[in-house]
Amino acid sequence: NEEEDDATHNVLPQMPHLAHTPSPYTGPSASDLLHRRKQFLPSTVGPVYTHPLNLVEGKMQYLFDESGRRYLDAFGGIATISCGHCHPDVVQATVNQIRLLQHTTVLYLNPAVVDFAEALAAKFPGELKAVFFTNSGTEANELALMIARLYTGYHDIISIRNGYHGNATSTMGATAQFFHKFNVIQTGIHHVLNPDPYRGVFGSDGVKYAYDVQDVIDYGTCGHVAGFIAEPIQGVGGVIELAPGYLPAVYSIIKKAGGLFIADEVQTGFGRTGSHFWGFEAHGIVPDIVTLAKGIGNGVPIGAVVTTPQIAKVLTQRYYFSTFGGNLVSAAAGLAVLKVIEKDKLQQNAFVVGSYLKERLSTQMEKHKIIGDVRGRGLLLGVELVKDRKLKTPAKEEMLQIFERMKDMGVLIGKGGFHGNVLRITPPLCFTKEDADFLVEVMDYTMSKM
Ligand code: PLP
Repeated sequence: NEEEDDATHNVLPQMPHLAHTPSPYTGPSASDLLHRRKQFLPSTVGPVYTHPLNLVEGKMQYLFDESGRRYLDAFGGIATISCGHCHPDVVQATVNQIRLLQHTTVLYLNPAVVDFAEALAAKFPGELKAVFFTNSGTEANELALMIARLYTGYHDIISIRNGYHGNATSTMGATAQFFHKFNVIQTGIHHVLNPDPYRGVFGSDGVKYAYDVQDVIDYGTCGHVAGFIAEPIQGVGGVIELAPGYLPAVYSIIKKAGGLFIADEVQTGFGRTGSHFWGFEAHGIVPDIVTLAKGIGNGVPIGAVVTTPQIAKVLTQRYYFSTFGGNLVSAAAGLAVLKVIEKDKLQQNAFVVGSYLKERLSTQMEKHKIIGDVRGRGLLLGVELVKDRKLKTPAKEEMLQIFERMKDMGVLIGKGGFHGNVLRITPPLCFTKEDADFLVEVMDYTMSKM
């Protein structure tokens, strides 16, 4: 009961102050929208909150519902909001472009797309200078897998069992945690052991997991592969940092098998991991292909594949195009995002605030036995919940309760993991230490009542 709560916690956690009054809302109510959504968007019924919010306005790391109530968006859209909701510079650049010209085709020139491609290429090391724009992460990964097959002349692709790469045919095939649910039949995609330090069979020994990649190549392919795809830190799979040494070991195995190394940076890119601009940089390897989406447009739909000019030739020799991929408006937004990340020092902020938040979350483990693991880097963090620390029994129902109650107290987070028991924290990169404190206090309060 409330009195008891107040006695244990003295005061309820207070959200940091924000000098912003949301615009008056006059649209349909949450219950009306939910009713109509069930009718016209039935696929959204399953995975949502019992009582979803009607979120109508955003301001940096905060969101407002129809009544003007404020929420801390610690999921950052869905890890899509890099700079902050409706960041003024991104809004300005997008609106300017919308007013000028919204769309042409690759038959013509326009500075928006070329400027963005050039600025993006400048963020990559070595030969990674050839950019293709898409509309989403799925499309970027589909394209990357196709490029690997075309370039190498081989067909087999290797992906990690717990990875998430998208929801079209090849990407779903590469996403072992989902594909069986959707009856996707993909030939030539092989799933390898998850190098998960918390639950994996070899603990933190990355090199041992890499032997499985060699095994799969030896037993399951002709000895040559088109490529290997992995997220430097798994996002949807429950924020899993791949065991140290895994990616470099796999890199040399894949090279020997004639394949290309694809880094799926859809969640890890644009400074989110704090220590580096790209997730692969923490592993000391340079991929052949990098795929991007989510944070690239701060919520505006756009994705990209970045590769070397040599590899890119397989597409320039063919008539490859995407109607909306890298359209002018998305490109203008993307360029503004790059500038804001630099100007607002967002990568540095992700490092400082992310380290602080991780530390505070880890300290909560002493108090709450339900927390089995705290992991991640920068502002890509995960909290795995278990019923029993020794057995690591996933606490899925408890996770859902915490998730729902934190929302009621004003904090929005994500959920995920193969067992559905991981709280995912991927806020906009402008997240502050005060926001981190509020999040931890709300989580603490919620868990204290379990
Ligand atoms: N790759 C990763 C790592 C992702 O997290 C996602 C989406 O969550 C995708 C690819 C697919 O991106 P999209 O949903 O934009 O198609």
